[in-house]
Amino acid sequence: MGVDFLVPAAGSGQRMELGHNKLFVSLGGQPVLLHTLRALLALPSVERLLLIYRQGELEQLQRLCRSIDWGRVQPVWIEGGTERADSVRNGLRYLLEHPGAEVAMTHDAARPFLSGQLYNRLLAALKSSPAAVPALPIAETTRRALKDGRTEVVEREGLYLTQTPQAFLAAQIKPVFFGPQEHLTLTDEAGYFEQVGLPVALVPGDPLNIKLTRPADLLLAQAYLALNQS
Ligand code: C5P
Repeated sequence: MGVDFLVPAAGSGQRMELGHNKLFVSLGGQPVLLHTLRALLALPSVERLLLIYRQGELEQLQRLCRSIDWGRVQPVWIEGGTERADSVRNGLRYLLEHPGAEVAMTHDAARPFLSGQLYNRLLAALKSSPAAVPALPIAETTRRALKDGRTEVVEREGLYLTQTPQAFLAAQIKPVFFGPQEHLTLTDEAGYFEQVGLPVALVPGDPLNIKLTRPADLLLAQAYLALNQS
C-alpha cells in the first residue's frame, strides 16, 4: 500500500517559549524538522510528503530542506491554518483534489523519532480497520481538577495517550472530513472517524516517539539522540 504523509509544521511553538517555530531548533546540530523528514524518507512505500507550513515561513523552510534528498518521494508545500486541525484540513483538501496513495497518514513535524516498526504496525492495522493510531496506556495516577477547587482521581484503566502517525484509508477522506462534521475542530484525526461511527484501531505506541512541546522535551530529545549516536 502506498502512503501519502501530511506533515503539519505550521505551529507557533508557544509552549516551547522560544518566540519562533520550534521546528527550526537545532537538535544534535540539525533542525528538528530535518530529523522528522529524514525519518519519514527512510520509510518504505511513501509517495508524497505534504509539508504544511506556517504563513510567512515557506522560504525559510525550503532553504532548510535544500540538503534533503527526496529520492522518489514528491514534496508538496501547503499553507497551514490557525489550529492544527485547520492545517491538516488544508492538506486533506489537497489529497481530495489530487488523489494518490491508498493510505494517508498525518505525522506531527514536532515528533522527530518515528520508527519503522511503529509505521508497520499502523499499516498492518489498516488491513482490518479504516483508521489506526498509536496509543500508550496512561501509566501514572490521573487527576481531574474540578471547578470548585477540589480534585478527583480519574480511573486510568482503559485510558490512553495517542500519538502520530494517525493512519487512515484515503478513500475515507471525503465522507469523514468533508461531510457534516466539516466544521469541527478536533485535536486529532481519529476523532473525526469516531464522530461518524467508524472504528479506530489502537496499535501500541512508542514511548520514544515524543512530541517536542515544552522546553524539557528538547533536553530529553538531546539525551535520546546522544544515546543513539554512542
Ligand atoms: O502545538 P503542537 O506541538 O501540539 O502541534 C503539533 C504539530 O502540529 C506541530 O508539528 C505543529 O507545527 C503543527 N501545527 C500546525 N498548525 C497549527 C498548529 C500546530 O501545523 N496551527
